[in-house]
Amino acid sequence: MTTPGVGAEPWPRRVDPMTDLPARRLLLVHAHPDDESINNGATMARYAAEGARVTLVTCTLGEEGEVIPPRLAHMAPDRDDTLGPHRVGELAEAMKELGVTDHRFLGGPGRFRDSGMMGVEQNERPGAFWSADVDEAAALLVEIIREVRPQVLVTYDPNGGYGHPDHIQAHRVAMRAADLSPDPDFRPDLGEPWEIAKVYWNRVPRGAALEGFARLRRDLAEPGKLPFGRAASITEVPGVVDDHVITTEIDGSGFASAKAAAMRAHATQIEVHEPYFALSNELAQPLLVDECYELVRGRREGGGRESDLFDGIPGTSEGIPGSSEDLPGTSEGLRGTSEENSGTSFEGAQNGTGL
Ligand SMILES: [Zn+2]
Repeated sequence: MTTPGVGAEPWPRRVDPMTDLPARRLLLVHAHPDDESINNGATMARYAAEGARVTLVTCTLGEEGEVIPPRLAHMAPDRDDTLGPHRVGELAEAMKELGVTDHRFLGGPGRFRDSGMMGVEQNERPGAFWSADVDEAAALLVEIIREVRPQVLVTYDPNGGYGHPDHIQAHRVAMRAADLSPDPDFRPDLGEPWEIAKVYWNRVPRGAALEGFARLRRDLAEPGKLPFGRAASITEVPGVVDDHVITTEIDGSGFASAKAAAMRAHATQIEVHEPYFALSNELAQPLLVDECYELVRGRREGGGRESDLFDGIPGTSEGIPGSSEDLPGTSEGLRGTSEENSGTSFEGAQNGTGL
């Protein structure tokens, strides 16, 4: 870091992002606005509250989603096709509820379009995320990884949790970017290499899901207790696995209301009645507050379930907020700050071309 003085570059010439980066940095890659709140709302709120840098990258605007409130039905893709920009606003509201300030769209808002459900003609539409080149999309994510230097990445399993093309593609792009980012020969123009220490896939333990559905069915049997008519099937919940697959469980009990509020902010997509919710199919599901993961890259300490995504990562113990001493490469050749890269941030959407 230089100091201001006669003959020096104008001050500050460039903000060193490392000085602004807290010790713990978490990156989440999702397909559509709302996926982050349903899957990781409590996790995001917890780490944001603890002072970690939480970065959300959403790959599409969710233009093909079905609209729940009748008064907003005109936004549907086969009518006004204005759902995407509306969901940008819903996502911003959800992030306020979770206390997350760094949320971006991959390549900027509208770069990739929602591909719709598997097998529909929108899959092949120009600009659809499903038809994007994985390496090209991954390079956009590498630039973000090298800027924010996350130790932990959270994304979907290879099936995207439930087979939606955008979720599968988000998985592919996230895993590819995690491979490319530490490679010094890959696009040095995108910043200094950075290796992500741990990669997790979103998971739901079958035991907790079954318990939640049993409680839901009891509540549904009481006339007038819930605004929902029927329960979904457990097979409609993405990422359900046998309990032994779970490596990590985040206690979200302190963040249940933040998670519910964030889900509620996605009002075109989700109807919330705690501790349950329904998507546009109007089938109720349990709203799970403890969020579970499968560690697929990186070391796990001990045999039991982890209770912290940063477990075992040097320099990230609790109580070291903002420490940069033990972070390598803090001065040379770093990419610009998020302000400089606002084309890929949510703020870009607000100042942009009416998306
Ligand atoms: Zn989705």
